[in-house]
Amino acid sequence: MKGSADQSEVSATEENKETDMSVWAAHVLTLYPDMFPGPLGQSLAGRGLEEGAWNLQVTNIRDYSVGKHHTVDDSPFGGGAGMVMRPDVLGNAIDAAKAASGGDKRLMYFSPRGRIMDQALMRELTAGPGVILVCGRFEGIDQRVLEARDVEEVSLGDFILSGGEIAALAMLDAVVRLLPGVTGNQASLSEESFETGLLEYPHYTRPAIWEDRAVPEVLLSGHHKKIKEWRQRSSEELTKQRRADLWERWSDENLK
Ligand code: SAH
Repeated sequence: MKGSADQSEVSATEENKETDMSVWAAHVLTLYPDMFPGPLGQSLAGRGLEEGAWNLQVTNIRDYSVGKHHTVDDSPFGGGAGMVMRPDVLGNAIDAAKAASGGDKRLMYFSPRGRIMDQALMRELTAGPGVILVCGRFEGIDQRVLEARDVEEVSLGDFILSGGEIAALAMLDAVVRLLPGVTGNQASLSEESFETGLLEYPHYTRPAIWEDRAVPEVLLSGHHKKIKEWRQRSSEELTKQRRADLWERWSDENLK
């Protein structure tokens, strides 16, 4: 079997070439390894990756293909359109990833049938050692792999992507920015939308008047207590208007 030799460790500096088991690590299984690190190689996540604040390993599922045609998929039993990713190929790819990056990581498959990802999940993942992520293509993957390897299913939202890769990039972007050593100002993270259970208040910056539109007075007052109250009220109003689901939960917990 091929495989581990082709696994690419995406890490920039020489000192970080060795996988440091204490660093939060993602291992992505995909048919499109060139999509990684992609946008995660830029900005905060990219710097974090270079500096070894997190680690990314990418495996091409095709390295575990079968037969002389290097097959990874086949037509569905029962008929119907499209192709299904084979359980033997994926089972081997998953087992190798577990052996390479530790059996303690959460194993997840991106799927529109999964639990929709939210900030609470990102926090949970940040607190753990890392993730092994399976990106599907075609019509999806053979159901037996999900059961046999006890794979969690997670979704980016109620729409259909052509593959799991963009969902993986979105998850990793959301998790990595929470890691210590990636975002400089950790305090700024705790006030954001969803962290408090509310949507965030509106932001304003210079110029104070733009196209005849002024910034809310209170923000120019220098009165910290009043500013805090205004922001809290704005958060509550916005959440009430836009997200009845969040508002119900928050008001149950915070207003008697
Ligand atoms: N036939 C499937 C869709 C397959 S889309 C269905 O109707 O449910 C191909 C692949 O894209 C899936 O295997 C999955 O890995 C990924 N994908 C599609 N939509 C997604 C979503 N909303 N969230 C996460 N992954 C998704």
